[in-house]
Amino acid sequence: MHHRFLVLFLNVSAVELPVVQSTPDIGTAPSADTRDATNQPTRQHLLDINQTSLKAWLAEKGQPSFRAKQIWEWVYAQRASSFDEMTNLPKSLREELAKSFVIYQATEAAVTTSTDGTDKLLIRLCDGGEVECVLLRDGPRRSICVSSQVGCAMGCVFCASGLDGVDRNLTRGEILEQMLRLQARLMPDERLSHIVMMGMGEPLANLDRVLESLDVARSPEGLGISPRRITISTVGLPPAIDRLSQHGVPYNLAVSLHAPNDELRSELVPVNKKIGIDAILDAADRYFDSSGRRLTFEYVLLGGVNDSDACARELASLLRKRTVLLNVIPYNPVSGLPYKTPSPQAISRFKETLVSGGINVMFRQRKGDEIDAACGQLRRNRKTT
Ligand code: SF4
Repeated sequence: MHHRFLVLFLNVSAVELPVVQSTPDIGTAPSADTRDATNQPTRQHLLDINQTSLKAWLAEKGQPSFRAKQIWEWVYAQRASSFDEMTNLPKSLREELAKSFVIYQATEAAVTTSTDGTDKLLIRLCDGGEVECVLLRDGPRRSICVSSQVGCAMGCVFCASGLDGVDRNLTRGEILEQMLRLQARLMPDERLSHIVMMGMGEPLANLDRVLESLDVARSPEGLGISPRRITISTVGLPPAIDRLSQHGVPYNLAVSLHAPNDELRSELVPVNKKIGIDAILDAADRYFDSSGRRLTFEYVLLGGVNDSDACARELASLLRKRTVLLNVIPYNPVSGLPYKTPSPQAISRFKETLVSGGINVMFRQRKGDEIDAACGQLRRNRKTT
């Protein structure tokens, strides 16, 4: 849960801030007219195709291939949401494009903005599935947290996103559309600076589509964000971590540990029963060796569950010989789940034990808590109300 936990770049205690704006059901994308009678899209999602495919489409229409670059520039750099805006394209081409493609395929089912500069979108996909994504403004940073699946199969017991299991993987275009919709909320002179694949879903369970969308995110012709500012979060799926190593792009890897031993971890993160902490740490070490990127481990601190001194000592000995940053995130309760925020005393004891154990540790506050920015909560709240 790494996913779901927007570890923000603040180091403050929980503060309840008022929600200043909540705009339900402001649909913007023409989802209705992109479906046929069998509910299949009749126009292709432009964000789903790469430049090579777009060039092939342009060639069929007798258009030069440089038009693909122009279209890309409009979508990713100029933030165009319609072909009409692409004024350096011939009008006839704009009309052809609008007949064959949509730029945005989903709708914004809810937008919530908080006073701390966090915007959260509930995105309704063209088949009715819903995911969340978040824009966080923190000093000069403009970070986004993006979902990779509808639901999640990992089943972490404290997570709202995993309560109903996984429905499906997102497409490359659906992942990119979240990024573009969040980018569109920036002022014209602001740029996205960081991406975390930490929204709903396990990114490594949808690795191909995640990597395709991140290829666009890091491309100078796409969003132009350095891989060093992009983090992929995972519960730890060793074969997929190895595939990420082989991919060779130095993204940051954040592994959600949440427990220092297999007995407790298998209770909290059921998928652990089939994997085990040793295999995850071995794969993470291989990723560190191949990428040179410092590893991040996430640890959600659950009151009375994994916040004991013994857990802290065990965690310190597990991580001591590694080059890591440990993010400890005091849990924020999810309605309907029995887990509690740890006491301030437990938090400071846990921290002292890790620091004296030589671990590079940060205690973080999830920004956006007051707008349900914790994973899956907005989607769940809307389902239950
Ligand atoms: S259930 Fe899925 S989304 Fe939730 S914390 Fe676990 S891995 Fe992340």
